Amino acid sequence: MSSTSVTTITRITVDDIRFPTSQHLDGSDAMSPDPDYSSAYVILHTDDPLLEGHGHSFTIGRGTEIICTAIKAHAHLVIGRTLEEFISNPGTFWRHLTSDSQLRWIGPEKGAIHLGLGAIVNALWDLYAKREGKPLWKLISGFTPEQFIKCIDFRYISDVLKPDEALNMLKKLESTKSERIKQLEEQGYPAYTTSAGWLGYSDDKIRRLCREALNDGFTHLKIKVGRDLEDDIRRIKIIRDEVGYDKRIMVDANQVWDVDQAIEWMKNLAQFQPYWIEEPTSPDDILGHAKISEALRSYNIGVATGEHGMNRILFKQMLQANALQFCQIDSCRLGGVNEVLAVLLLAAKFNVPVCPHAGGVGLCELVQHLSMIDFIVVSGTWENRITEFVDHLHEHFDDPCIIKNGRYVAPTKPGYSTQMKDDSRQQYSFPNGPIWKK
Ligand SMILES: [Mg+2]
Repeated sequence: MSSTSVTTITRITVDDIRFPTSQHLDGSDAMSPDPDYSSAYVILHTDDPLLEGHGHSFTIGRGTEIICTAIKAHAHLVIGRTLEEFISNPGTFWRHLTSDSQLRWIGPEKGAIHLGLGAIVNALWDLYAKREGKPLWKLISGFTPEQFIKCIDFRYISDVLKPDEALNMLKKLESTKSERIKQLEEQGYPAYTTSAGWLGYSDDKIRRLCREALNDGFTHLKIKVGRDLEDDIRRIKIIRDEVGYDKRIMVDANQVWDVDQAIEWMKNLAQFQPYWIEEPTSPDDILGHAKISEALRSYNIGVATGEHGMNRILFKQMLQANALQFCQIDSCRLGGVNEVLAVLLLAAKFNVPVCPHAGGVGLCELVQHLSMIDFIVVSGTWENRITEFVDHLHEHFDDPCIIKNGRYVAPTKPGYSTQMKDDSRQQYSFPNGPIWKK
């Protein structure tokens, strides 16, 4: 289809899709012992029967129905609008989606309503990339700096980053973009694995998974901590024993500690040389994260957070306060691609590496695109940057991510890799799909 024709969004459909992952302790951490990885899933249908945009938000089970309702609450803001309106000014369109005065009361730009927005925005980008016949990373990497800037709503961040400054940052990297695209297509983007380190796995399972991770080419592994100090020490010892000290280990507490407790606990784990402590405390506690960062600096342990980072304003303040050393954007918790691009720019300005949160269901498929955009367009480097990879549920997607030698292979199919197989959506539909009726 030529890119000059007009495509109108005619209706949306929303699905509550849940996978019974809690049966195998996959994804178990200190805060979430029994997650059922789930998707609040939206399809934007158009007047072209061959063109749909798919998007989703990730949840861990109960409450997915609330996000589905939040998606539906945005329907009047997209139905009847054209893809061309979105393409001509994605930042303005994003502002339109977040500006319904009544919906803002139950945000603004955070919580369930924002997760719903993220699904819709991701579906719009999938639609756009499919229409252009390109994978999303390649579509956005091909934007001029001016086009890229137009994707972003600078409201609430312009005190720290003005559009002109962002434009200059992008222009400096413009002439070397093609070299990085070539590098990426040849080598893939660096990833790390969380598959070995969930709470609740036996010693033997941890050892086996560590060996598999090394065989698969990973050099960075992450482990869940925070429920029991003795057990954390036991499991990190096993992992260090298996992988040695030339590989990096990161630890993730999933918000379970108070600020001072986080500092004390991490002093006990410092002997194992963790590269970062992830989500040590409440994701909203900017000054608490700053205090932890300061206390752990001499131990060479960085603070990583962001998977529960609700919006670009929170990231702005985290960066201003030196509260994080690794920025973990989430592809669905932020308001979709547009707001992620804003945070990539903020992090680049503060010289903080972006290491996206992934795993769950479908998140790896999305964040690979975002890391590739960061590398090619925004930060211009993959030094000290690694993107999370967890090896489950990829088989449910039409264009599953591919990991080779510990790196994400650049996707080639058109779209944002958001589309789940029809059969999986039907099988795992909650509560009436065959999997849940058993
Ligand atoms: Mg985490």
